[in-house]
Amino acid sequence: MYAYDTRNEGEQAMNYDAIVIGAGHNGLAAAVELAARGWSVAVVEAAGEPGGAVKTREVTLPGFRHDLCAMNLSMFAGSAFFNKNKDALFANGLGIVPAADCFASVFRDQTWLGVSTDLEQTSSRIAGISPKDAAAWKAMLAEFGADAPHIFGLLGSPMPSVAAAKVVWKAWRARGTGWLYDTLKLLVSSPRDFLDARFEHPKVKTMMAAWGLHLDFAPDVAGGALFPYLESMANQAFGMVIGQGGADTIIKAMTSLLASKGGELILGSAVDRIETSGGAATGVRLADGRVLTARKAVIANAHPQIVFGKLLAAEPTRAGFDAKIAKFRAGPGTMMIHLALDGLPDWAAGEALKKFAYVHVAPDLEMMSRVYAEAVDGLLPGEPALVVGQPTAVDPSRAPDGRHVLWVQVRVLPATIRGDALGAIEGRDWDTVKDAYADRVLDILEHYAPGLRARILGRSVFSPLDLERENPNLIGGDNLSGSHHLDQNFLFRPVPGYSRYRTPVKSLYLCGASTWPGAGTGSGSGFMLAGMLAGK
Ligand SMILES: Cc1cc2nc3c(=O)[nH]c(=O)nc-3n(C[C@H](O)[C@H](O)[C@H](O)COP(=O)(O)OP(=O)(O)OC[C@H]3O[C@@H](n4cnc5c(N)ncnc54)[C@H](O)[C@@H]3O)c2cc1C
Repeated sequence: MYAYDTRNEGEQAMNYDAIVIGAGHNGLAAAVELAARGWSVAVVEAAGEPGGAVKTREVTLPGFRHDLCAMNLSMFAGSAFFNKNKDALFANGLGIVPAADCFASVFRDQTWLGVSTDLEQTSSRIAGISPKDAAAWKAMLAEFGADAPHIFGLLGSPMPSVAAAKVVWKAWRARGTGWLYDTLKLLVSSPRDFLDARFEHPKVKTMMAAWGLHLDFAPDVAGGALFPYLESMANQAFGMVIGQGGADTIIKAMTSLLASKGGELILGSAVDRIETSGGAATGVRLADGRVLTARKAVIANAHPQIVFGKLLAAEPTRAGFDAKIAKFRAGPGTMMIHLALDGLPDWAAGEALKKFAYVHVAPDLEMMSRVYAEAVDGLLPGEPALVVGQPTAVDPSRAPDGRHVLWVQVRVLPATIRGDALGAIEGRDWDTVKDAYADRVLDILEHYAPGLRARILGRSVFSPLDLERENPNLIGGDNLSGSHHLDQNFLFRPVPGYSRYRTPVKSLYLCGASTWPGAGTGSGSGFMLAGMLAGK
C-alpha cells in the first residue's frame, strides 16, 4: 500500500530543503504545503506505515477495520489545511462520511440524551427533561454562530502572532468589549463552572462535560470549558465526520498528494540523531547510518522530549530550555479496546442509541472528577469514563455485512500503576493487568448494553504502554502528547517563548500535538509552520 524507499544509497538524492521527522498528519501537512511552495521535502517515519495516531488496521479479525487511535475526523474536516487542499485530497482518494447522530450520553437510570444535527430533535430531547435548558441550548447555538469565526480564527493562528492579534481586534470591533471579557472567561473556566452558569439539568451538563475528558479536563480543571462548548456546538451546527473505510483515508490522501508534488516518504527508518553544525540543524542521521541533509529546515513532528532528550546531544547553552522541556507534563494515559461484533450493542437506554457515532459512558460529573483524581494518583480507576465509537453505524463498509466494529476509548488511566481503586487487580504493570482491566470495562459496558459480551467475535486491547510502543509520541499512553492544562496551552505550548514552532537550535522546528494548537486531527501546527517557513 505504501512504498518504502527502496533505492540503494548511491541512487538516493540525500539533500533536501526540508526534512520532516515523523509522518503524523501534522508532519505530512507541513510537507505537502512546503512541497506545494517548491521546496524539496522528505518525510522520515520510524514505523512501517505513516499516520502516527491516525491508523486503521484489522486488529481483531480479517475484514474488520479498526481505527487504532483517532476515529473522529471533524477537526480535519474543519481545518485550514483541508480547506486549502480539499479538491486535491478528494482527487487523491479522501473519503469522509457524515454522522447525523453525533454523540450521546447514557445515565445511571438507563436513560440517554444526545445531539443530532437536526436541532429540533436535540432540543426536544433536552426539553423532555428541562424546557429551560432547551431554550438555553438554542441561545448558546445562536451565540456560537457569531462566536465561531473568531474562536476558530484564533485557534487557526500562530500563537502569539499579528494574525492572532488581528482576529482579536476584528472580534472586538464586531462583538464589543463585553464579548471579549466573556470569551476570556470561557477560556479560563472549568467545565463545571461554565455549565452551572448556563444549564440547570445535571444530564445536560454531564452530556457536555464528557468532552472535557477527551482531553485532560475533569469537571473542575480551569481551562476545560472550551472543548465541551466547542464540541457540543460544532456537532450541533456541523455534525461529525469519520473516514470512509477508516480514519487512515486522510493519511492515504495526504501521502498520495505529497508524492504528486514530488515529496518523498521514507518508511521504517527511525531518526537516531539530528545533525547540527554551528548551532544550526543541518540534517538527520537514520538508525541505519544514512545521513540526510536539509538546506533550510529540519521539522520534528516528534514529541519535544524525544527531540531534546534523545535526538540531540545535550548542549550547555541550551540547558535552561532542555530543563523546561523535560518538565513538559504528559496528560493521563488512555487505553483502546477494539471489538469485532455480530451486531451493535443493545443499549438498555434505547434502540435509538445504535445510530450514534459516539456514546459516552460517563454518567455523572461526580464520576468524572473521581476517575481523574484516581488516574493522576496512580490508581486504576474503579469506574473509568468510556467513549464508545460505533463507526459501522455510520460507515458499514468497515466490517463484513451485518457485522460491526466497536471503538472503545478508556479515559483516563495512570501511566505508572500504583494500585487499584477497587483493590481487585493485583498487577502493577500494564502488560500484566491490561486484560483484567479491559474486563472491568466490558463489565461496565455490559451493564449499559446487556448481552454485549455474547456479541463479541474478536477483541484487541491496547494498553497505555502498547500505545506508546505503537507511537513513541504517546508517552505513557498520553493521547494528547502533553497535558492541555492552561500552563501548557496557547502561548505556553510546549514551553513559554517557543509556541511559534522554533527552537533554540537554528533551523530546527517542532510541530505536532505537543505544539499549539495541540492534539487532534486538525493538522494546524504543521500547516501553520509550513506557511511561516515558506512565507505567507
Ligand atoms: C487513542 C487515541 C484516540 C484519539 N482520538 C482522536 C479522535 O477521535 N479525534 C481527534 O481529532 N484526535 C484524536 N486523537 C488525537 C490525535 O490522533 C493526535 O493528537 C494526532 O494524531 C497527533 O498527530 P501528530 O501530527 O502530532 O503526530 P503523531 O500522530 O504523534 O505522529 C508522529 C509520528 O512521528 C513518528 N516518530 C516519532 N519519533 C520519530 C523518530 N525518531 N524518527 C522517525 N519517526 C518518528 C511516530 O512514529 C509517528 O508516526 C486520539 C489520539 C489517541 C492516541
